[in-house]
Amino acid sequence: MMTKDTSGDVRLSGISKTYGSFTAVHPLDLTVPQGSFFALLGASGCGKTTTLRMIAGLEEPTSGSVSLGDQDVTNLPPYKRPVNTVFQSYALFPHLDIFENVAFGLRRRGIKSVKKQVEEMLELVQLGEQARKKPHQLSGGQQQRVAVARALINHPKVLLLDEPLGALDLKLRRQMQLELKRIQTEVGITFIHVTHDQEEAMTMADTVAVMNAGRVEQLGSPADLYENPNTTFVANFLGTSNLIEAEVDTKSGDEIVLKAGGGKLSLPAARCSAPTTTGGKVLVGIRPEKISLTHADDAGGIPEGRNRITGKIADSSFIGVSTQYVIDSPVCPEFEVYAQNIDRDARLIPGADVVLHWNPAHTFGLDATQD
Ligand code: ATP
Repeated sequence: MMTKDTSGDVRLSGISKTYGSFTAVHPLDLTVPQGSFFALLGASGCGKTTTLRMIAGLEEPTSGSVSLGDQDVTNLPPYKRPVNTVFQSYALFPHLDIFENVAFGLRRRGIKSVKKQVEEMLELVQLGEQARKKPHQLSGGQQQRVAVARALINHPKVLLLDEPLGALDLKLRRQMQLELKRIQTEVGITFIHVTHDQEEAMTMADTVAVMNAGRVEQLGSPADLYENPNTTFVANFLGTSNLIEAEVDTKSGDEIVLKAGGGKLSLPAARCSAPTTTGGKVLVGIRPEKISLTHADDAGGIPEGRNRITGKIADSSFIGVSTQYVIDSPVCPEFEVYAQNIDRDARLIPGADVVLHWNPAHTFGLDATQD
């Protein structure tokens, strides 16, 4: 029987970091399994870089421990950990060519015959043709790939990436996201990626930890976090969400019925993280692209009842693939709706009366009394 490879597991147990009286990272327990592409996602100052630096050994934790595979590395200096880091500033050696930049880690370990390994690594990052160029002769994206090759040449168990694409323009950043994902799949080691960009985290990572004020607020796959956020912070950090203030009316079986601004909403009980006793306050979340928007004149076929609300278009912006509408409704002020521009209804202009409706399976319920 094959035993599971755990050599690239990263385990943080109660790890924290305080600076004087300020807590940058509250005690954190986290396991990143071998071979996963894991993202630490959060706004500036939430503690993600500090967490990464504690894994690298560049920052000493105030409490707790770090294990890599079966080894407790809490007290090991960075160079003794089977980990390497790629930073936003690529920190390539300007006077060395690309080959020598990548070979650097091997030469420092006294390895003489480096040609085969360096060439393989340059192939992996698709820079085989550029080996004899100097860093300044490469584009930003190419330089970033050299930095990745240089970090991978010593075969670390874990690669840490600290906003590695932050210096690139949007188009190049998107290309590099796919490129990094391909490289990770090919080498099969654990990647831990720090970013403040939700799209970047969702494109690349199989698991995302959303951090807020020094804590992991929610952990899950990108789809899970998007479809089932547990807090308003996560709902708003990953995309846009309408959050309707509602009150629990009745609960029967798997269905919760709520009152909101004269309308009735239905929510599957399994999709509600708030208490569901009658009178309880719940924020019902619905993503703008999950809503059907119909001109009021054509809405006769939409059954009266739950998740059917009326409103008036307050604003619309055409953005190519879709049109974004803002709807004034008694149920929710400034309701946002994104509608695909296939067969767009020319009557859907500001001032038009509309009906919004949606499938309750696409909603989620949050505790309205949380912070
Ligand atoms: P960014 O995306 O801006 O790098 P981040 O989420 O990575 O943000 P950290 O760099 O981990 O955040 O910092 C978390 C908090 O700890 C911030 O409020 C920061 O000001 C504080 N901090 C970080 N390093 C120190 C330090 N050496 N001394 C005091 N405070 C620090």
